[in-house]
Amino acid sequence: MPGEPQADCLFCKIVRGDVPATIVRETETTVAFRDINPQAPTHVLVIPKAHHRDAASLAAEAPELCADILREAGAVAADEKVDGTGYRIVFNTGSGAGQTVWHAHAHVLGGRGFEWPPG
Ligand code: IMP
Repeated sequence: MPGEPQADCLFCKIVRGDVPATIVRETETTVAFRDINPQAPTHVLVIPKAHHRDAASLAAEAPELCADILREAGAVAADEKVDGTGYRIVFNTGSGAGQTVWHAHAHVLGGRGFEWPPG
């Protein structure tokens, strides 16, 4: 069933507290925690507590959670004081785009300059 926790999903384990994470924000529906391998001074992942495999699945199965995640991404940027200079919200979707964890997540990156097109 879409949204059901998955026993072997790393981010479901973080939601349950079975895997430690540096949580910076939490709501009824989302958790935000620091990326273990940061690619910028601010690198926080915002995830839905419910399990959806990627951003497109999330949008199809629980569109209201997309708004929750984007709202929290903005709140993270404000908390980290990177909202003034600009920051990047990234949803890697599919292995060809670099997705490695199959639980939808937004990367919130800030605190340095960014190039376009991205690598
Ligand atoms: P993806 O490659 O877009 O799927 O992003 C997955 C992210 O999860 C990567 O940036 C990893 O560094 C990060 N990550 C993997 N394991 C952990 C963990 O245990 N805690 C926090 N971040 C993690």
